[in-house]
Amino acid sequence: MPTISNASFMTSVEQELNQYCQERFIAPEQLSNTQWFQFIAKCSQSTILQNFPTNPPLVNTRRVNYLSMEFLIGRLLGNNLMSLSVYQDVDNFVAKYGKNLVDILEEERDPSLGNGGLGRLAACYLDSMASLSQPAIGYGLHYQYGLFKQHFNESGEQLETGDSWNRDFYLQQYHRPDFQQKVGFGGTVAQITDDQYDWQPAWTIQGEAFDLPVVGYKGVQQPLRLWQGYSETSFDLAQFNDGQYLQAESHVIDAAKLTKVLYPNDNHQEGKALRLMQQYFHCACSIADLLRQHLAQGRTLMELPEFEVVQLNDTHPALAIPELMRILLDQHHLSWEQAWAISSKTFAYTNHTLLPEALEQWEDGLVAQLLPRHMLIIERIDRELLAKVRAEFNDEEFEQAWRETAILMDHRVRMANLCVVGSFAVNGVAQIHSELVVSDLFPSYARLFKGRFHNVTNGVTPRRWIRQANPPLARLLDNHIDGDWTKDLALLSQLENLVDDPHFQTAYQEIKQSNKQVLADVIEQEIGLKVNCNAIFDVQIKRFHEYKRQHLNLLNIIATYLDLKANPQKDFVPRLFIFAGKAAPGYFMAKQIIQAINGVAKVINNDPDMQGKLQVAFLPDYRVSLAEKIIPAADVSEQISLAGKEASGTGNMKLALNGAITLGTLDGANVEIAEFAGKENVVIFGHTVESVRQLREQGYVPRSYYEQDEQLRNAIDALANGMFSDGDTQRFSALVDNLLNSDYFCVLADFASYREAQQEIAERYKDQAAWSRSAMLNTARLGTFSSDRSIRDYQTRIWKK
Ligand SMILES: *Cc1c(COP(=O)(O)O)cnc(C)c1O
Repeated sequence: MPTISNASFMTSVEQELNQYCQERFIAPEQLSNTQWFQFIAKCSQSTILQNFPTNPPLVNTRRVNYLSMEFLIGRLLGNNLMSLSVYQDVDNFVAKYGKNLVDILEEERDPSLGNGGLGRLAACYLDSMASLSQPAIGYGLHYQYGLFKQHFNESGEQLETGDSWNRDFYLQQYHRPDFQQKVGFGGTVAQITDDQYDWQPAWTIQGEAFDLPVVGYKGVQQPLRLWQGYSETSFDLAQFNDGQYLQAESHVIDAAKLTKVLYPNDNHQEGKALRLMQQYFHCACSIADLLRQHLAQGRTLMELPEFEVVQLNDTHPALAIPELMRILLDQHHLSWEQAWAISSKTFAYTNHTLLPEALEQWEDGLVAQLLPRHMLIIERIDRELLAKVRAEFNDEEFEQAWRETAILMDHRVRMANLCVVGSFAVNGVAQIHSELVVSDLFPSYARLFKGRFHNVTNGVTPRRWIRQANPPLARLLDNHIDGDWTKDLALLSQLENLVDDPHFQTAYQEIKQSNKQVLADVIEQEIGLKVNCNAIFDVQIKRFHEYKRQHLNLLNIIATYLDLKANPQKDFVPRLFIFAGKAAPGYFMAKQIIQAINGVAKVINNDPDMQGKLQVAFLPDYRVSLAEKIIPAADVSEQISLAGKEASGTGNMKLALNGAITLGTLDGANVEIAEFAGKENVVIFGHTVESVRQLREQGYVPRSYYEQDEQLRNAIDALANGMFSDGDTQRFSALVDNLLNSDYFCVLADFASYREAQQEIAERYKDQAAWSRSAMLNTARLGTFSSDRSIRDYQTRIWKK
């Protein structure tokens, strides 16, 4: 890529500053932070555009078309300045006018175009692909409203408001009218030949492309292309001959609204027609765009899999498979066999969950109405599969194998099945998860499609999660590591030799302490709580979901509080529990847990006996920019999902790399973090996948734990009897009932073990030297969790030619 010299960048900044100020008749000293932000964003954008887009040649590699309904990219300006290597120059420049770049960058609104880990992973992968010069394009949706903003009311309930991130024209994007697409819905199909049909859609929607440049660190720049829906007319529901599926939600079937909102569910399918339409719109625009580019370069359709790979981020873009088939069959008149030969070598699918409620299934009637031609293609794929399954399995095995592998079953279209059948590679996102995908979810597929299943453990980009989020740590690493760790995170292993060096130890400890101070200021600003910076900063930040078990954390906090009240003289290591995370607006139990944490926080933080000892800070509106502030200050990383439920986790990696000790179950990537960091540098507790299985087989009775464990009983009773709800004994009754009578995620079964692990954390923290040594070793040994390594794994295991 043509590189930008710092000097020429700064010259243009200076020129533009003069012009910007002259137009407004003000002196640079008078510019507000907002104006500084707009002005620097403009300079950065024009520099990027001059060098954009670059099209790296495809040498021994395929271009990656990364299809994802979510990209949780976070603020871009600071990241882009860093990638352009001008961050320091700009910082010095604004300092001349009495400004601080960090404050200016705070003006940017996070584009929250994702829910949680899945969307953030897509963002880290785009950053890594651009940094490694892996030719790639990200395809997503240009939601007008990103994930809702979270607030809390007086009684601690979550309230949601819209996040119109784009309202004032977000400066870092540009419209590409030349890449417009048309997408059809509904209508009729007529058969032309055996393989070819004529589909006459009832309506079409226009897709407009908006590009956000992804600027690689010393790499290339390539687009994240986001599609937005436009239409002059609303859908006329009468055009459906049988509109029963859509009538129920007819008020939302409005073409202009197609890409208005991001569905706020994480690991849960809502099954709304509008969501299915978003999915198809995303796939249709993206597949048409990638074919346009492929053919424009003079390449043939048969060559498609040689030059392009489509990576499906979960099943949300599964319709890309029948969409490519449709175009090859109906528009290019290929035979089924030819089309399938191309399509089945083009797609690769990443599975992100085993949770049944998150595995997407659509009613076949709904799919047939909205996408009649695609339904025929899916039926054909299913028929061809049936023949394969009959051939592979004997009569005794067949029924079970077909129940598991069929795409169409019980009037549902099972999207994960469509993806496995239609892809040449399927991967899980952590070692244990990839094993469970084969053993629990798809054993028959593993037998049918040998060699199709892989593991690619997730990773996080060190540019954002170390260099940008933790500048003091980045400087320490710059000073002690030979080579550019930002580009090769394995170099962190050089720190192994320094963990016993007293100067290095002191420097590392001072960084953590100063980061805690910075976060303390943020906490005071945000929620008005003054915290003790000598307390253990114990952090659980992630979406709220019962499987993630924030309520296990909460029960320990309550038990600790009751214990301290009963034994005020007790030797106790001060602790600050920090929470952040949103619940899906329709997820009642998760919202109860949020309210309960807020209720407990209020009582504890206002109890004079707890001052400086025990505190709870729940920061509202968790998002990437807030994560960047919390993570560098964390001492303890809570990764306490029920074993077998968290596919990988990536928050665990960010926290551990920044020197937090993992307190976790043997789930997802925690297993690999423990292996790499060393067992002695993490604290593991709780049931394992295997022991959970046994527990369920015996018949799990949560109430028996309640009856036998006095501390647990007192904690639950305190929630039930109104201690944390102003005497209201009903407020948390759903949560309490759920724990005592069903507790699907085995909170009560892991309570005692978790409490012991928490004691161990406190004991270890007393020995500050040993604690810091463990923290340093976490940083030193976890370089493998860079998303650069994940991308290299994809390159060698999956995307290779
Ligand atoms: C990393 C990240 C996540 C994922 O966190 P997990 O703990 O892996 O669930 C979610 N949201 C944001 C904003 C993140 O930065």
